[in-house]
Amino acid sequence: MKALVFTEPGVVEYLDVPEPEMRDGETIISVMSSAICGSELHGFRSSGFRVPPLIMGHEFAGMTPDGRRVVINPLLSCGHCDACLRNEPQLCRTRALIGVNRDGGFAERVSVPNSAMHTIPDSLAWSTASLTEPLANAVHANGLLGKHVERVGIIGAGPIGLVCALVAAHHGHDVMISDTSTERQDIARSLGLKSSHELDGEFDAIIDAVGLPVSRQASVAGIRAGGTAVWIGLAVDSVELSANSIVREEKHITGSFAYTAEEFGVAIELATQLDLSWTTDVPLSASAEAFLALAGGERSMVKAIIVPDSGVQA
Ligand SMILES: [Zn+2]
Ligand SMILES: [Zn+2]
Repeated sequence: MKALVFTEPGVVEYLDVPEPEMRDGETIISVMSSAICGSELHGFRSSGFRVPPLIMGHEFAGMTPDGRRVVINPLLSCGHCDACLRNEPQLCRTRALIGVNRDGGFAERVSVPNSAMHTIPDSLAWSTASLTEPLANAVHANGLLGKHVERVGIIGAGPIGLVCALVAAHHGHDVMISDTSTERQDIARSLGLKSSHELDGEFDAIIDAVGLPVSRQASVAGIRAGGTAVWIGLAVDSVELSANSIVREEKHITGSFAYTAEEFGVAIELATQLDLSWTTDVPLSASAEAFLALAGGERSMVKAIIVPDSGVQA
């Protein structure tokens, strides 16, 4: 079969690869849509969290051999460690992700655990279905905003920032999203969101969907006393903060990673309700060029979704 393979640091290639191996308790699905994640556009530059050779892709949906339309929850948890027993599978001590720690959706077919498959309604378009996973991240991040929340700021109008903002707006919050790109501000506005170059004023909670020192600092500076900064972006590892102001103003900072099974279920529901029309389909045969162009900043599509060559919609 054909697949987009992360072959060495900085390189992805469209290659012929062996068919996926059928494992116990698993099903081989035909991939119908697999979204490229920002974490992959950064992560493929080095061999760290993801080790080549690897077929990436953790945001995907497909068809089972008996014709069931399914979306995959790529988070694999053990079910019996302390975190799993607290229903925090996202913190499982042996947490793994399909498409990160084993082959994922950037291929014609992939083997997935039966427990990871969730049936989706016929009304949900394939491209939209692949956004279930980022939406589940947004549902989780929104669950960490803290108490007495009305005004929510989002830093970064990339795919994760946009889904976080759409979920916050869906919850009835007063939402503002910022991005340095005017093109992305326009996309946010077209979705009915208030958007600007920088967040302006004071917020009850701010989600940083970028992860640069400047955005992390802004997320903490922009919240009221007792407010919460939720960090979901992962651009760089270190940041300098004014720690004493965090003490004096009882500010909260929390990371947000992945989601619970319930939150993934909520995301399937939300995928049918929110405006997720800001994606671009890319055929698998052209995915290497598209991936490298996105990673190099030469193409500005907000979210690319790899689809089978036969399934490309104009
Ligand atoms: Zn992702
Ligand atoms: Zn566990």
